[in-house]
Amino acid sequence: MDKKKLAVVLEHTRGILKEHPLCDHCLGRMFAGKLGVVSHKRLGHKIRSKLEQKQPKTCYICKNLMSNLATHVKKILEASKEYQFSTFLIGAVLQPSIHDRDDIIRSKFKLRGIVSIKSDITREMGKLFSRKTKSVVDYQNPDMVFTIDFKRDYCEIKPRAILLQARYTKNIRGLPQKQKPCDQCEGRGCFVCDFSGMREFNSVEGKIARFLIEKFGAQQARITWIGGEDESSLVVGNGRPFFAKLVNPHKRKIFFRKKIDLDKISILGLRVINKIPSDPVRFRTVVVMEVETENEIEPALLEELQKLKEQPIILYENSHKNKKSIYNIRIKKISGNSFRMKMESDGGMPLKRFVAGQEVEPSISSVLGTNCRCAKFDFHKITVIR
Ligand SMILES: [Zn+2]
Ligand SMILES: [Zn+2]
Repeated sequence: MDKKKLAVVLEHTRGILKEHPLCDHCLGRMFAGKLGVVSHKRLGHKIRSKLEQKQPKTCYICKNLMSNLATHVKKILEASKEYQFSTFLIGAVLQPSIHDRDDIIRSKFKLRGIVSIKSDITREMGKLFSRKTKSVVDYQNPDMVFTIDFKRDYCEIKPRAILLQARYTKNIRGLPQKQKPCDQCEGRGCFVCDFSGMREFNSVEGKIARFLIEKFGAQQARITWIGGEDESSLVVGNGRPFFAKLVNPHKRKIFFRKKIDLDKISILGLRVINKIPSDPVRFRTVVVMEVETENEIEPALLEELQKLKEQPIILYENSHKNKKSIYNIRIKKISGNSFRMKMESDGGMPLKRFVAGQEVEPSISSVLGTNCRCAKFDFHKITVIR
């Protein structure tokens, strides 16, 4: 340590301590930067012994909070017990009077570039907590954020949400994709629905949400779909992709099988991701539709449907137009006025409207020149385009 600098510091300290008793932590903090020392406490102790000064009863700045941090860390330990985490960050809300007294000392004695009492408190608590839990501080993306409010003597806990990606297949007809939200809170979460936002779990969404909520000990599972289907549709093949955000998870380290069979649906390739895409995801689908026609159709006329591949399909939605393309069509006659059509197209094609010709041009009805109805459609393959 630079002896000249230390001598100046000792002189400076004598003046401060004459008016304001400070604990080793607070004393050391005032000069640690200047002397290039890491441990505030050790430096404070060293300065004090050189000056042959006794420990004060009460520190002017922190009122001995710095030497009592272990009791507060205990509270965080208690509160964090039921959570699984490997990284964390501690924040603090202090009595304003502590900041005031810290400022008074700094300005009165012209001390600059000093770590604030708040940073010192959170740093020290972080060290203690890290040692006890074998977890590490992460400033960017911690698993847990603890905010200790010294004013209200309260510790707030915020686990980072877990983001997931997977696909699902639906193996039987008669299951809606989306769940009706809890009627008390409209899905926000309330006491009635145990904060899940749902009261029943009789849909694809409900079944996936309930499974994830249980597995991760989470409060809510918010699902984002890539496309949708009817209650009567099947989703087979590689399944429909979706994203899920798990709010307030208690567990993080969970191993999943490649295929998870739930009642009536399966979840495929479930995995944790860093970010749910904010832009719409582009995708293509292969669907099999059963089409019923008002008039009987000659088999030769059915071949006309191949033309749909060669032109954009225009969707009229509200005041704007949207375009979709069809890439592949295969047709199989079922009877005089029904046929099956397997089609690969851009995702998000409104299939019933495309068959009926309802604000879609061209459509199956317009090509065949008779009113058509989509009796049923199933998804056979969904491909995300990157
Ligand atoms: Zn102090
Ligand atoms: Zn509710």
